Amino acid sequence: MNKKTMMAVVKESAAPGLAYKKLPVPRPGPGQVLVKVAAASVCGTDSLIYEWAPWAASRITLPRVIGHEFAGVVEETGEGVVGTETGDRVSAESHYFCGRCYQCRTGRPEVCANHKIMGVDADGSFAEHIVVPAANIWHNHPDIPDDVASLQEPLGNAVDTVAAEDISGKRVLITGAGPMGLMCIAVAKAMGASRIMVSDPNEYRLELARLMGADIVLNPKVMNIEGPVLSATRGEGVDVLLEISGNAKALSTGLALLAAGGRASLLGIFRGPVPVDLNNHIIFKKIRLYGITGRKPFSTWHTVSRLLYSGRLDIGPLITHRMKLAEYEKGFTLMKSGRCGKVVFTP
Ligand code: NAD
Ligand code: ZN
Repeated sequence: MNKKTMMAVVKESAAPGLAYKKLPVPRPGPGQVLVKVAAASVCGTDSLIYEWAPWAASRITLPRVIGHEFAGVVEETGEGVVGTETGDRVSAESHYFCGRCYQCRTGRPEVCANHKIMGVDADGSFAEHIVVPAANIWHNHPDIPDDVASLQEPLGNAVDTVAAEDISGKRVLITGAGPMGLMCIAVAKAMGASRIMVSDPNEYRLELARLMGADIVLNPKVMNIEGPVLSATRGEGVDVLLEISGNAKALSTGLALLAAGGRASLLGIFRGPVPVDLNNHIIFKKIRLYGITGRKPFSTWHTVSRLLYSGRLDIGPLITHRMKLAEYEKGFTLMKSGRCGKVVFTP
């Protein structure tokens, strides 16, 4: 056991809340890397763990250091690690894939049958130090600052969602302007979408959507969004639907507004099974539907990194709050209120 200690945000008990604890600094085993965390961003999954939502309760073994989006500097490498050195600036793919299952061996590690998730099945990044498998390390571009580098992981989901098919010149409806929807706006714009329409019942988030580059923002709580979407698309509907809310009504409205022959990427996670008018909304319109989970290691990382350092992907307005890790309660309260974009902790 290491005598050095660190502070970390830990899920200790099967109830809402988290604890700020002193823990031993972990040691890297063979094939692992110890990283000193410089920035760690908060994801909706972390909020589910904070609240001890049914998904978290069914999945997590306690105690667990949470967090899975970060950037930092390599402090130590374990036995057999090649290509990563002490002092390297890195982030990491948060899904630890096995490399042996059917999906891994056919080029789809994002749906690995045995995957483990950082901050869920293994200790995470809301700490001063984290140990990660060397196979998951991503070397950060020198021009990308740590707080932005920390967002490469969720930006990879956005890239996978937006780029499931070519989006250049397309008219896009994004339902949901939480942090993931906001990232999809920036990615769709960087990849050449011609018109980006965004719906969300939260006015604060619609304002952020505008700052991220949305052309039209729509509040489904105060208006019927069908009229404005149809009049912006010559009555044809949108070419692409990106469903990022996990709300059944948003999905059904979005599918109704999708032009025949269009495609939909579904990233939002629903509370349970949802009814879909398959005949009228999918089959007779010949819609292509993509389920999106995680990111493609490591092609989406390459895309995100290039878009960021080229300056083409501007996520400036996305990080609305930066705070010390010790102030994590404030961060989770903000996440719950919906009056934030991305919240980034610095240990
Ligand atoms: P979030 O909860 O912050 O954002 C969801 C947004 O949808 C909110 O702003 C909310 O106001 C909005 N919304 C609610 N009802 C709506 C409606 N009827 N029409 C339009 N918008 C509506 O969550 P997030 O962090 O931005 O993530 C978005 C979704 O993506 C969540 O469901 C999350 O679980 C899911 N997610 C999936 C993956 C994956 O790999 N599939 C990864 C990350 C997140
Ligand atoms: Zn696998």
